[in-house]
Amino acid sequence: MTDSNALMATYAPPDILFERGEGSWLITREGDRYLDFISGIAVTAFGHEHPHLVAALKEQTDKYWHSSNMFRVEGAEKLARRLTDNSFADRVFFCNSGAEAVEAGLKMMRRYHYDRGQPHRSRIIGMHNAFHGRTIATIAAAGNPAHTKGFFEGDMGFDHVPFGDIDALQEAVTDKTAGIILEPIQGEGGIMPAPDGYLKAVRDLCSQTGTLFMVDEIQCGMGRTGKLFAHEWDQIKPDILASAKGLGGGFPIGACLATEQVSACMIVGTHGSTFGGNPLATNVGNAVLDLVLAEGFLETVYERGQYLKGALEALVTRHPDKLAGVRGRGLMLGLQTHISNTRLLDCLREAGLLTGRAGSDILRLLPPLNVSTAEIDQALTLMDTVLTDWQSG
Ligand SMILES: *Cc1c(COP(=O)(O)O)cnc(C)c1O
Repeated sequence: MTDSNALMATYAPPDILFERGEGSWLITREGDRYLDFISGIAVTAFGHEHPHLVAALKEQTDKYWHSSNMFRVEGAEKLARRLTDNSFADRVFFCNSGAEAVEAGLKMMRRYHYDRGQPHRSRIIGMHNAFHGRTIATIAAAGNPAHTKGFFEGDMGFDHVPFGDIDALQEAVTDKTAGIILEPIQGEGGIMPAPDGYLKAVRDLCSQTGTLFMVDEIQCGMGRTGKLFAHEWDQIKPDILASAKGLGGGFPIGACLATEQVSACMIVGTHGSTFGGNPLATNVGNAVLDLVLAEGFLETVYERGQYLKGALEALVTRHPDKLAGVRGRGLMLGLQTHISNTRLLDCLREAGLLTGRAGSDILRLLPPLNVSTAEIDQALTLMDTVLTDWQSG
């Protein structure tokens, strides 16, 4: 038996211990099976124990684990090349988490202008309801008072505007602005996609003013919406992109991608990471890319997303007193509720379906990208039962 009392109380998990995973399922020692439609928050992009990912990790554990970036790492070079071949970017910096990927981008935005003789261009604009991680800089970038309270004074060089409001953004950009950071689909903030035309307008504003445009695709990227990166839907190119979560399929890895021009400031000594791009993480990352970039795979993600979205819309029609609507793209979907999203999440878990929360009234659904339609049907049956049996109050 174990207890959680030696852990800092930053989380309050329910009293369930999983012993193993199997595709879209997590299983306790007692054999209770849970359908996993949250995927460790978009991390286990191919479910649990996908044979191709397990093989990639095992292959590397038998060779060597770590050398640090004092030496070349073949898996890192290969993964960087594949990410750049398939995106706007020319260069990649590897790290171990989402927050570190954002941090690298924030530093780059400031250093870029500094190196061009404009050190006063250091302010960065973030969006209301954003989430970029839990380090000092990333909480400052998102500006959520619930996360920043008690951790620093002042604004740390960040300004904030409402997400989707191009006029407010135009107003906020000054000759002191280094860059803008946003999530193409806000995750923690409530599965909120950018309004049509917004990313294009931000791109134009940035290009006109020499401001750098950074997208945080830690949650919405890596195939989640049916494109490798979500900004591709808007046919724009950012200058910098943060990736993590699904990139490692469950193994910790983060990456900051940038164009040649912008990344040129990141020379020896400017930045680093002991574990970043380690052989274990990058071997798994390459295996994830094998699956994401397989011919026709991203189309199937989009189709499964449409299937799930349609089924959720039908559920909203059946339970209009409890559900308000569905939003999101691909397999990044939010179900807006009239009832408490926390209580709904608890009841679904008790019924055997794992989901997440986002914002104040969103139930978040992030199933594995290779979820089957039969599993989607099972999830919907569970949701329908829970909502039908719902006792108000
Ligand atoms: C999860 C997340 C992060 C932070 O990632 P960590 O690995 O927890 O540091 C940053 N941005 C977005 C959009 C995220 O969803």
